[in-house]
Amino acid sequence: MTGPALEVRRLTVDFAQRSGPRLRAVDDVSLALRSGKTLALVGESGSGKSTIVRALGRLMKPSAGEILLGGKVSTLHRSDVREYRRHVQLVFQDPFASLNPAHTVAHHLARPLLLHGRATRHDVTGKVDELLRSVNLVPAGDVARMYPHELSGGQRQRVAIARALAPAPDVLLADEPVSMLDVSIRLEILNLLDDLKSQRDLAMLYVTHDLATARHFSSEIIVMYRGEIVERGPSDEVILHPAHPYTQLLASAAPMPGATRASLAAARGTRQKARAARDAERREVTVDAGCKFRRRCLHAMPECSTRPCDVETAPGHTARCWLYVKAAPPDADVAAPTRRG
Ligand code: SF4
Repeated sequence: MTGPALEVRRLTVDFAQRSGPRLRAVDDVSLALRSGKTLALVGESGSGKSTIVRALGRLMKPSAGEILLGGKVSTLHRSDVREYRRHVQLVFQDPFASLNPAHTVAHHLARPLLLHGRATRHDVTGKVDELLRSVNLVPAGDVARMYPHELSGGQRQRVAIARALAPAPDVLLADEPVSMLDVSIRLEILNLLDDLKSQRDLAMLYVTHDLATARHFSSEIIVMYRGEIVERGPSDEVILHPAHPYTQLLASAAPMPGATRASLAAARGTRQKARAARDAERREVTVDAGCKFRRRCLHAMPECSTRPCDVETAPGHTARCWLYVKAAPPDADVAAPTRRG
């Protein structure tokens, strides 16, 4: 396949609120997932990452925008959705909630195999064992007879991954797949997903708030803030040279090898100021047209009350920020970051 396996154009999702205007959870987001590649979607809670996954998984109806599977527009017609789900599968954050405690592992895997015509009644047991072996759950025959409560968190997530692989999808949407697991097994699960992506030529969306794993496991990173894409580019480029002040803030909160006491204290001070600004921002109910990050931004200037556009800061690397549209005015209290050549 030459084009993207899955593409979303100008996706917008609005939610009705009990009082006040509709809340825009996802605002004009476009992205493309390509076979054999992982795209990481990063951002804090409430940035719209999981809403994008739910819209891409056809679990909710977007307010606007279109989704293209293999270059063809996908509709919400029942037959279309069933075919769509054969190609696009999800792995959720909580492996326990995503498995039915009343059914065995074999039942969880046999169902999608039969439903999507990947197995018959005669060979389904063998196909279930094959799936379990592909996620390193052995001896497969014993695991197949177990119930979710008999498995560890990591084993449950492996079952959830095996279930997602059952229809032989082209696209895997992994919504914070390790955030509820013990730190000791997170890497194992991420390595497993990475291996499966390469072996099966999957197009993968990896949703996370962890910049370090986003860099390691993806080729491209998109940074979201309050429903908008504020920065995107090749993973190393975005992490090593974050352009948008919000990405810089996220990077300052990530563990820094070789950091000194002074640099850690400075980073802590920056985060405290940003946290206070975020809390103040959450108390406000008005939605305005300017940069959504401006109440937390240490570089905010008068121009920021109008919406910035995307600016390329390096090849393939864009940031939605006025700092790159023009140099900061001389009376700005913090100097603008230097634009890289
Ligand atoms: Fe900060 Fe302005 Fe850039 Fe928004 S547009 S991130 S407020 S400098």
